Amino acid sequence: MVRFTVLASGSKGNCTVVSGGHTRILVDAGLSCRELFRRMRLAGEEPETLDAIIITHEHSDHITGLAVTARKLGIPVYFTHGTHRAWMRWIAPRRQMTYTQWLEQCRQQAAARQAEIDSAADVDCDEELECVAAVATGGSEEMRAAAAGKASAALEKEAARAAVAPEPANAPEKDPTWLPAVEYFEAGQPFQIGDIAVSPFTIPHDAADPVGFVFQAEGVRMAVATDLGYIPPNVKAQLKRVDLLLLESNHDLEMLRDGPYPWSVKQRVLSRVGHLSNEATATYLETEYDGQATYVILGHLSESNNMPELARITAERALNGRASLLANHLLLAAQHEPLMPISF
Ligand SMILES: [Zn+2]
Ligand SMILES: [Zn+2]
Repeated sequence: MVRFTVLASGSKGNCTVVSGGHTRILVDAGLSCRELFRRMRLAGEEPETLDAIIITHEHSDHITGLAVTARKLGIPVYFTHGTHRAWMRWIAPRRQMTYTQWLEQCRQQAAARQAEIDSAADVDCDEELECVAAVATGGSEEMRAAAAGKASAALEKEAARAAVAPEPANAPEKDPTWLPAVEYFEAGQPFQIGDIAVSPFTIPHDAADPVGFVFQAEGVRMAVATDLGYIPPNVKAQLKRVDLLLLESNHDLEMLRDGPYPWSVKQRVLSRVGHLSNEATATYLETEYDGQATYVILGHLSESNNMPELARITAERALNGRASLLANHLLLAAQHEPLMPISF
């Protein structure tokens, strides 16, 4: 069965579960892990069955709960290179070091551990040596990152074990950027996560390397397109022939203009790398949308500069202008509660 469950959508947190075949993907982790799990259960989804997390971009409303959730579940996180780097800078802004510095740190840590082994008669040598070997040979990229951040030998032992046989409970606490596994993808290069085909595409937004997605499973196509200043031709092309479309309807132009945001923030939201207004979304639905989606979900609504009814009415007007689209179900994703799961 194919299922699409929006757990949260809006400027204060974004999270969606896409299920198809035997695979479940969490798209963004913009809620705390605890809240994310709570909402999954509320929506009838089991957090323990998630296979991977995939990230659109590094803004905090998309990644707040990422590290804790990935560690707790012991699952890989899919990023673009640019987003991963930006996320690491966001999460550990002061932990920058060159490769040479990192190598030197590893050498010193290995020497310190060796000294400890030599001096402590009751140390479990096998475990200790396993750790040293893992650090010395480099291990995976995640392992190296983990090793770089640890201060104590005990924590490094845990990381070495996690690298050999991933155990979410063993995630090192000293390195905030440590993840059980990292997988990279590129916009424009489709790939597969289990039974779900993923097509990432570039979106115009003020992040390092932001993307939207089309997910396909069992012949059902589902698009996630939020956080975009406007809809360029490459995005329009991706949104054709989808069965479900989660599309941004961020703000009402008048509410934003008269609202509480400082002028600079208003300019950012309105810019071509900001967010889609109700009006821009309606124009797209009226003039360019191919009408193929059974479900159109309006998402990423601003709580300060929009009202759900305003977004709904604006989109409804656009769809009602096209008689052929009356069969489309128009739904609104909310910030504070999950949307009812949509099954195909
Ligand atoms: Zn954003
Ligand atoms: Zn966002």
